[in-house]
Amino acid sequence: MSLSIDMSDKRALVMGVANARSLGWAIAERLLEAGCQVGFSYQGERLKGELEKLTAGRPGTWIQQCDATSEEDLTALFQRAKDEFGELDFLVHAIGFAPRAAMEGRFLDTTAEDWNTAMNVSAYTLVSAARHAEPLLRDGGSIVSLTFQASQRVVPKYNVMGAAKAALEAATRYLAVELGERQIRVNTISAGPMRTIAARSIPAFATLYGSAAEVAPLGRNPTPEEVGNLGLFLLSDLSTGMTGQTVYVDSGASIATIKAQAPAAAEGKDR
Ligand code: NAD
Repeated sequence: MSLSIDMSDKRALVMGVANARSLGWAIAERLLEAGCQVGFSYQGERLKGELEKLTAGRPGTWIQQCDATSEEDLTALFQRAKDEFGELDFLVHAIGFAPRAAMEGRFLDTTAEDWNTAMNVSAYTLVSAARHAEPLLRDGGSIVSLTFQASQRVVPKYNVMGAAKAALEAATRYLAVELGERQIRVNTISAGPMRTIAARSIPAFATLYGSAAEVAPLGRNPTPEEVGNLGLFLLSDLSTGMTGQTVYVDSGASIATIKAQAPAAAEGKDR
């Protein structure tokens, strides 16, 4: 599919690309195709090589290490963004983490330490990154993050991450109100399950992946490209009337609880 959105005068910061499967990369690829200049942050030096490979030969890109829970790292990252770009149009937050132990046992047994880690990394960093971005963001800018429907419904073993995603979605609404005055929009994408590094830390991911595709009206899980397309739309001027929203790209799985079947097909089968 070809999209002709011209973002050659736009500048974005994408936080949370680990490799080519990352949902942050799916959005970044669309931005780069549209001509946007993109800076990237990665967590820890072990991810540097991967991002160097992904951005090699792509003009207007730069990368910087940033643990999003560190105020010092955030200050350095946004100083770099200022030095490279002067201003920002877009911020993409594609960061999530919960200790595996908190997703293996019962939700009842979540420790305060694991709760705080999941909330801090997966929800609070949207608030702190938005605060650091605020002085750089142009009026009319756009912020996008990624969430999952376990914020609204119980998904086995998603546990504390369900609570963290609910916090992220609530934070999206509060940020949208405070930044709306400057026409800066804040939305979050609720994506269906995708095979990424973060997904590997969810103990019941294979079951979740299969059952989401099973109930989805489209009969499959969405692709990273479809997440990228929605990201591009929410960042672009095509969505200037939208803010504070949780927007689903999940093949419709969130509206269904049992395997969907068109009425005519179901009647035919019953006869
Ligand atoms: P991913 O592993 O590719 O990306 C997660 C990123 O978070 C990694 O780059 C990791 O380095 C980064 N990160 C973790 N802790 C960090 C910290 N302290 N500071 C900075 N960065 C940190 O996996 P992904 O699936 O692309 O995840 C991106 C976002 O999409 C997450 O918010 C995730 O919850 C969300 N999401 C994923 C799925 C899925 O099924 N994969 C579905 C819906 C939403």
